[in-house]
This record gives sequence, C-alpha cells and structure tokens, in this order.
Amino acid sequence: MSSTPTWVQLIYLACAVCFILALKGLSSPKHARAGNLLGAVGAIVAVVTVFFAADINHLVPILIAIAVGTVIGVIGARKVLMTQMPQLVALFNGVGGLAAAVVALLELSDRVGHGGEPKFDLAMTAFTILVGTVSFAGSMLTFAKLQELMTSRPVLFPGLPVLFGLAIIGALALAVFVVTDPMVWIGIALGIVGLALGVLLVLPVGGADVPIVISLLNAFTGLTVAAGGYVLGNTVLLVGGTLVGASGTILTKLMAAAMGRSVVNIMFGALKGGSTLGAGTVSDRPVRSAGPEDIAILLEYASKVIVVPGYGLAVAQAQHTLRELVDVLTARGVAVDYAIHPVAGRMPGHMNVLLAEAQVPYEQLKEMDDINSQFKQTDVVLVVGANDVVNPAAKTTPGAPIYGMPILNADEANQIVFLKRSMRPGFAGIENELLFDPKTTLLFGDAKDSLGKLLNAVKAL
Ligand code: NDP
Repeated sequence: MSSTPTWVQLIYLACAVCFILALKGLSSPKHARAGNLLGAVGAIVAVVTVFFAADINHLVPILIAIAVGTVIGVIGARKVLMTQMPQLVALFNGVGGLAAAVVALLELSDRVGHGGEPKFDLAMTAFTILVGTVSFAGSMLTFAKLQELMTSRPVLFPGLPVLFGLAIIGALALAVFVVTDPMVWIGIALGIVGLALGVLLVLPVGGADVPIVISLLNAFTGLTVAAGGYVLGNTVLLVGGTLVGASGTILTKLMAAAMGRSVVNIMFGALKGGSTLGAGTVSDRPVRSAGPEDIAILLEYASKVIVVPGYGLAVAQAQHTLRELVDVLTARGVAVDYAIHPVAGRMPGHMNVLLAEAQVPYEQLKEMDDINSQFKQTDVVLVVGANDVVNPAAKTTPGAPIYGMPILNADEANQIVFLKRSMRPGFAGIENELLFDPKTTLLFGDAKDSLGKLLNAVKAL
C-alpha cells in the first residue's frame, strides 16, 4: 500500500467519502437518487484512476471486458421489472464475488514460488477465494429460485447436513494449506469446494426467505472484496468492500427482524424439519365480494382510510391509479394514509420506491410502528395486492411460516377491503383468515383494473 502515490491515495479517500455519503443518501427516499449518483461517481473515478496510477498490461482485453460488462449492465438494469430487482441484485452480487475470487487466484499464482509471503496476506487470499466462490454459487442458485428456473421450495436430501459439514471441514483444511504451503491447484480446489458450499447453503432455503439470503450473500461479497483490496493493497476496494459487508449485514438483520425470525433460523430452519414455505393451497370457503360501486360508497362515506400496499400493487403497476384515487378521496375530505410494512413486496423499501415513482407525498407513507395503533379508529382499510403483511396467522398460528412476524393491524379496522385476483395465498403460501372475516369485502380483479373502476365509481358519486 505504501508504494501507491499520495495523489492516488487522496483520490481513493475522496471516493471512499463518496461511498459513505451515498449510503447516507440512500437511507432517505428524498436523497436516494443523489446518493446513488454520488456512489456511482465515486466508483467511476476509482476505476479510471487505476489506469493512470498503475502500469497496466493487457490494456485492450481489459477495456473490451469493461465495455462488454457495461453494455450488459446497462441493458439488464433498464429492462428489468421492479418485481425482478432481487434477481438482478443476486446476479450482480454473484459476479462480484466471482471476480474477487478470480483476482485472488491470480494473485496466488503470481506469488507462488517467491517464498516469504506474509502469512496474513495468504490467509486473506484464501478467504477471498472461498467466500467469493460461496457467494457466486449461492447467488446463482438464489437467482434460479426467484426466476423459477427451479423449485423455490427448500430442497432437502438425506445426508445434506453431513455433506455440508464435510465441505466446511474440507474448505478450512484447504485454506490452511493455502497459507502454509501455497500452490495454485490448492487455491483452485478451495474455489471448487467454495462453489459446492454455496450450493449446499442455499438449497434448503425456501422462496420467501431467498431475498434475505441474497442480502447475506451481498454482505459476503463485500467482505470478499475488502479482503481482495487488502491482498492487492488497494484502499478503495478495502473501504468499499467493508461498507458493502457492513451494510449488507445490517440489512440482513433488519429483514430477518421484520419477519420475526433469526438469520440462523432462515438459513438452517428447513434442516430441522420446519419448512420455510407454506403449502400454497387455494381455499374454496365462501367469502363476501362486491363490485366497485359498493366499495366506492364505503370509501366516500369514510372519514379515515388506510391503504395497505403489497406485492400485487407492484405486479399490477397500479401505483399511479392508486394515487389518483387517494387524491380524489383526500380532496373530498377523507383522511388517507399508506401503511408501509417493512417486508411488503419483494425487497426492502419496495413500496416506498413504488409509491415515490407515483409521486405520493412522503408524509402520507406511515411506517408500521407509527400507524399500527390507528387501525382501531379507521373506517376502511384498503388492502391493495397485499396478503402476508396483514395475515393474523402471524400472531395466532404457531408453526405458520410467518408466525412471529409483526403485521399491520388491519383486522382492527371497521371494514377491510381486499383487492386481489383470486383466493390464492401470498408469498408464504398460507391461508389468510382475514379474507373470511365478516368485516371483510373482496373486490376481485387485477389491481390496476379494479382501482381504475373504483376511481370512476368514486368520481361518479
Ligand atoms: P404477498 O405475497 O403476501 O401477497 C401478494 C398478494 O397480491 C397476493 O394475495 C396476490 O393474490 C395479490 N396479487 C398479485 N398480483 C396481483 C395483481 N396483479 N392484482 C391484484 N392483486 C395481485 O405480498 P405482501 O406484500 O403482503 O407480503 C410480502 C411477502 O414477501 C411476505 O411474505 C414477506 O415475508 C415476503 N418477503 C418480502 C421481502 C421484502 O424485503 N419485501 C423479502 C423476503 C420475503 P392473487 O394472486 O389472488 O391476486
């Protein structure tokens, strides 16, 4: 690190400050765009600096690789639907881990035979290869599960825990050899065991928990990049990787807490026999349904309405129509708020991003803890494409996949209206007793279609 010129160190310091400010910006919807941009500027400056700071061999293939990666990244990010964002994060995260592992392997092959390598550097190299390959294989599997290229249920087979244990012991032994007797083939073997470990780690995780695993693997990749930064003597990689590792760990813990589960239970719960995904059966019990005109009357005569948005709102892309409806109701003197559950949708902040896109004022978005006491005084709760986040089974049914998850107290309101297409359950795959509550009315149909009809019906009153 000491051989890096001071001007380069100073630029790297500025880039690190950009990353920290980017994280700060991303923590509020108002400054998220600016934060994201600042982080991207920091990353670009860091990459460009390398070309001026070091003697670079193989310049042409490097530039070609950057160009190809940029084109794939830009097209991928532009084309992806909001509901597919976790898959995109898994892909980007996985290739990041693989890149760090490959760089560490190349460093190892450069250093082998010179002798006298500091043991700590070799330990960091082994760590980067192992955790980078775990992160790559695990991320690819999470991608396949979310993209439904394979079953999203936990995959279990006899001997899985034993195989997992053996893979861990094998990985540790190979890592020790990398430190004591460094050879390239040992590094490659370590990478192969890392790939197997990544697969064995993610196979038993059920669909509803996969986004949390993505966040955990993201933290792994951050740590890998940080260790790679140490090996290469690159400060900006070290700082950037540490920030990703720390923020990924915090996010994982927050998501697990929002689902009322521990990270260990999410990762290994299925091994103990408890499935992390419900049965997904469709109920044929009778429910009360109504047309848009009836629901419009309910809303028009309410003085307080709470909207609970969920995954289905994102699927239907009905956020603009929803905002229009809320605007009309507000103009007619109805007090309307949006209740945001921390795991509504399929990624953290999903509903905030979705509603921000429709220019819903931030003041109308109320977090669960702030709004939960208000449901009792609420005339109508309009549940738009949400299910698990209002399912009382989280409080009443021990053994349910969502048992222990804090929920929005929609059941305490005077009237509950669900906008959904069918009686299919939510992501956790379990029946929602609230759908059968005498206070509940269902408006069946695609959320955008239903909201459009509801809007016209309210306007016509
Ligand atoms: P759910 O998945 O529980 O329910 C979504 C509902 O939307 C379903 O009832 C579905 O019913 C309905 N729906 C789907 N498409 C449409 C459409 N086009 N129009 C109208 N309705 C539609 O979503 P929630 O947001 O309530 O809960 C999120 C779930 O995801 C939780 O289980 C959470 O734990 C999990 N999760 C969330 C993460 C996050 O970070 N946000 C991370 C990991 C997991 P129908 O098919 O009948 O229309």
